[in-house]
Amino acid sequence: MCWTMIDVIAETINLHKMKYFILFGPPGAGKGTQASAMVEKYNLHHISTGALLRKEIAAGTELGLKAKSLIDAGALVPDEIVEGMIESEFKTVKGVNGFLLDGFPRTTAQAEVLDQMLAKTSESVTAVVSIMIPDEMIKERIRHRATIEGRADDAKEETINNRILTYHEKTEPLVDYYTKAGRYNEINGTGTIDEVRENIFALMDTL
Ligand code: AMP
Repeated sequence: MCWTMIDVIAETINLHKMKYFILFGPPGAGKGTQASAMVEKYNLHHISTGALLRKEIAAGTELGLKAKSLIDAGALVPDEIVEGMIESEFKTVKGVNGFLLDGFPRTTAQAEVLDQMLAKTSESVTAVVSIMIPDEMIKERIRHRATIEGRADDAKEETINNRILTYHEKTEPLVDYYTKAGRYNEINGTGTIDEVRENIFALMDTL
């Protein structure tokens, strides 16, 4: 029997169960920065829907064109776009202990779709790691990142304000969603990068 066949069978009967971590937090909380250390230490595949969308924009694809105006406005792109991206990564990436979702889900509807996606293979979200910073720190962090990464949506005050609004209105309800599911874990994100990373690792070691 070939290895691909063995892999397929092993996955079907869940011999090596994948872990599904959600990295959560407001814009500017440091999710991208911490994700790099987390994927390396725990052999996870990082899926940043924002980064995937920016790649599509840079490549000038139809999907990128559709997403650009919404991202520039600080709004969310349609669910089916990001859900398709997530599902395709789940299906194609192998050889890792699990996935680190960054920027997805962003609404309760997306969280429900994720639950349904995983339920198809009798899997579920392992844990949410939430990096929390107060509102007054969000803008300060984004302004700092703008000088380093040059992201278009970090440059305009109006876009930043809309992203913060969108976060509170549409994404923050997920705290409740995952608390009720017994999956929510919160880390104080106000410390230095090293301090936050150490706290995340201490938590991840228990999950
Ligand atoms: P991020 O890099 O996570 O800050 O995402 C940048 C932008 O991409 C967001 O402001 C949204 O416009 C879009 N985006 C990223 N992830 C999602 C998602 N899960 N649902 C809808 N829009 C998203």
